[in-house]
Amino acid sequence: MTKDDRRNRREFLGLAGAGVVSAFASPASAGQAPLAQTVDAHDADLVVFNAKVYTMDAQAPRAEAFAIKNGRFVAIGSTNDIRGLIGKSTTSFDAKGMTVVPGFVDCHNHAPGTTLLYDVLVGNPYEVEFVTIRSIVDKLRARAKETPPGTWVEGYFFDDTKVKDNRLLNVHDLDEVSKDHPVVVHHRGGHTSFYNSKALELAGVNKETKNPAGGTFERDELGDLNGRVTDRARGAFNSVGKRETFTSQQVEQRNRDGAAHISKMFVRYGLTSVHHEGGDLAALQDIRARGDLKHRVSYEVQGRVLEGMITSGIKTGFGDEWIKLGATSEHTVDGSFSERTMALSVPYPGMNGYKGNVTETQDELNAWIERVHRAGIQVNCHANGDVAIDSVLTAVERAQKNFPRADSRPKITHCTLINDDLLRRIKATGTIPACFTTYTYYNTDKFKFYGEELLKRSLAFRSFLDAGVPVCAGSDFSPGPFAPLMGIQGMVTRKGWDDTTWGLNQRVTVDEAIRINTYNGAFASYEEKLKGSITPGKLADFVVLADDPHTVDPNKIKDIQIVRTVVGGVAMYQA
Ligand SMILES: [Zn+2]
Repeated sequence: MTKDDRRNRREFLGLAGAGVVSAFASPASAGQAPLAQTVDAHDADLVVFNAKVYTMDAQAPRAEAFAIKNGRFVAIGSTNDIRGLIGKSTTSFDAKGMTVVPGFVDCHNHAPGTTLLYDVLVGNPYEVEFVTIRSIVDKLRARAKETPPGTWVEGYFFDDTKVKDNRLLNVHDLDEVSKDHPVVVHHRGGHTSFYNSKALELAGVNKETKNPAGGTFERDELGDLNGRVTDRARGAFNSVGKRETFTSQQVEQRNRDGAAHISKMFVRYGLTSVHHEGGDLAALQDIRARGDLKHRVSYEVQGRVLEGMITSGIKTGFGDEWIKLGATSEHTVDGSFSERTMALSVPYPGMNGYKGNVTETQDELNAWIERVHRAGIQVNCHANGDVAIDSVLTAVERAQKNFPRADSRPKITHCTLINDDLLRRIKATGTIPACFTTYTYYNTDKFKFYGEELLKRSLAFRSFLDAGVPVCAGSDFSPGPFAPLMGIQGMVTRKGWDDTTWGLNQRVTVDEAIRINTYNGAFASYEEKLKGSITPGKLADFVVLADDPHTVDPNKIKDIQIVRTVVGGVAMYQA
């Protein structure tokens, strides 16, 4: 021990009694992070001071400074206190009064990295931006020029309510792109696509073609095909036309580079942990090995990976603090919120009794949930409407009664429309809702299809918190943008980009919104002892914000600049 070290240590110990919370001196956190108990805070790797720190730790909610060692927070306190921990090899960061919060957690994200990197994006994936139909046609035309005739030209991230022309894209627009290529534009919501004449011709779809079960070929007022095709009718295009082909090496390379690209975007917006809906698990491991994984992954399994887990006895939680097997991928029980097919107990306003789609029978759902639950895997179902949520809870209650397992934390992705009875059952079963967050700002232009009465019980953050339910945030990217600050703004104001407000009774405070996007996200993947707050012993994941969301105009929270995103003590993004 050098003289300096001794001095630092003595100062630190002296200060520990005066308000510094540290990994080895704080009884409050002693039970939370056994791994860090032997870490000494002096000669820290990184010290952050002069900050407005919102820790999201109820034991010590506010601080000015903290120290990090070996990728974990080791001490938290005042600037004067923590400065004493600066040693020879310490990097120090003067936050100059900026705000620091724990790293944000997105609990539902499809993470389409390869689309973002390689495909034509006809809308803005990240922000509210109105585009013109002209711009869509021009972008696709440019791609068609470098694509052999007969091969598909595809566009992504179209949003029907973010078009300056104020009308839907149609077959004539897309015929302007090319008459020699099949052309398609996909809605970012994932349930509808728009085709040109060549694509319709290749698929053998014409005026006389009947709609298949579960989908439609839509028509204009003259009865001609307008190019819009919904849900299952899109299957007609799957095996027609040529598609760009790739060798298996190319596919692997694209998956890796796509994953690396979206990882960069996540930290750019302050996300330090993301729950991935499937995607390429091997690619995530590969980019981690090459140093390009910037965020932590809770990988939500489906298909053969889920089967593999069940048959080989691998449970939720397998992995480490960077890549961990989480809940299952969303098991779909009903339709979509943004595209108005979720299963409601009452008819959609003005829709002739239409109540949306339930996509699975109760028996099928009971069997699926029982099997996953018994295998020690965290159940996760996609349920938007009250009818679908009821069905999931019925199956969960059945599984918990017949096969009791402590703390099983079933997850309901979206969990959009609730009522008092559902809320009571959600609480009783320990169910975790992962609600849309950015929709409260980005998709308010679609709320009119439900109306204010239903919105009072939808995206029900206030009701969940008041009932003691640890609701978490799930952007559902690509349907919704993933920017946590956009989500927080909407959750606090319930006011959209179009200045309309919906369900003001469901507003939460800034502090509550941050907690939902941090600590509750960690809880949703059983990692609340590891991350989710700025607490000694936890992983040093945090975000430096140029302004304080608690004090800026609430309608400007989404514009606060992310200055730095730090994961495990390492700056993964710097403005
Ligand atoms: Zn989803």
